[in-house]
Amino acid sequence: MRLVLVGPPGAGKGTQAQFIAEHLSVPKISTGDIFRANVSSATPLGLQAKAYMDRGDLVPDDVTIDMVRLRLQEPDASQGFLLDGFPRTVPQAQVLDDILSETDGSKLDVVLELVVDSEEVVRRLSGRRTCRTCNHVWHLDFDPPTVEGTCDLDDGELYQRDDDQAETIQNRLEVYELSTAPLVNYYAGRGVLVGIDATGPVDDVTERAIDALRPLEHSPKRPSHGAADLPPLPDGG
Ligand SMILES: [Zn+2]
Repeated sequence: MRLVLVGPPGAGKGTQAQFIAEHLSVPKISTGDIFRANVSSATPLGLQAKAYMDRGDLVPDDVTIDMVRLRLQEPDASQGFLLDGFPRTVPQAQVLDDILSETDGSKLDVVLELVVDSEEVVRRLSGRRTCRTCNHVWHLDFDPPTVEGTCDLDDGELYQRDDDQAETIQNRLEVYELSTAPLVNYYAGRGVLVGIDATGPVDDVTERAIDALRPLEHSPKRPSHGAADLPPLPDGG
């Protein structure tokens, strides 16, 4: 299955990406991982990207696109993939279509959107407290430390990162909404968008995602085994 995962900051996208990719037996391809891999192995694209980042500039679209193209042309992605972090815009979505059709004539099967309302995201993220010593992240509601303001692991001082301040979160959500809404509409118009409720426990969200994807799963090349392949039982009637 060729799948793109989208969702706002705080929707637990990274975690879900991992679980869903494992379930589908496809590689999880995230732009963050691609960047780090290219920079650390000093590929020509990695060196270009690093030059921009070192100057504090945004990496231009065509560098990102070239990295994604090369990654999608690797053999492990030929039977499917889960893309996380790309595309972010409608023009990038069109480039992705071109990459797939140039590579092997394939098409995107589904865009899975994790839907979480903003209040829930703010509540989740603004409760986070990070240890200054070990960087462990506690949560005031879901995973509170025994002593307020102190890390259970090493007695380090807990603080709220800038990223986790309510106002910062609100801003990030607005930016996400503005940039992603057209992308989501684009995919909805093509009939490939599937949205799932991403509130509640992680396992429940994964289950909802898998249920939503099940009708789209087709694995003609993989020999399957299991109850589904057994001849139907005589119904005795
Ligand atoms: Zn600590």
